[in-house]
Amino acid sequence: MSKCPYCNTSFNEILQTGFVGCSHCYQEIDELKVSLKKMYGEKKHKGKSAKKDYGNI
Ligand SMILES: [Zn+2]
Repeated sequence: MSKCPYCNTSFNEILQTGFVGCSHCYQEIDELKVSLKKMYGEKKHKGKSAKKDYGNI
């Protein structure tokens, strides 16, 4: 199970709470990265700066 080394939040915890621990989680937790891509990839067609948006959440 992936865990974010910055805030020690696991993907499981994020699933349960619906919140990420910090902005690094998106880069550090592979499962989160993949699920985000699925979620946002379908909404936004080919966004100009999709990666930037993730960091601002
Ligand atoms: Zn984190």
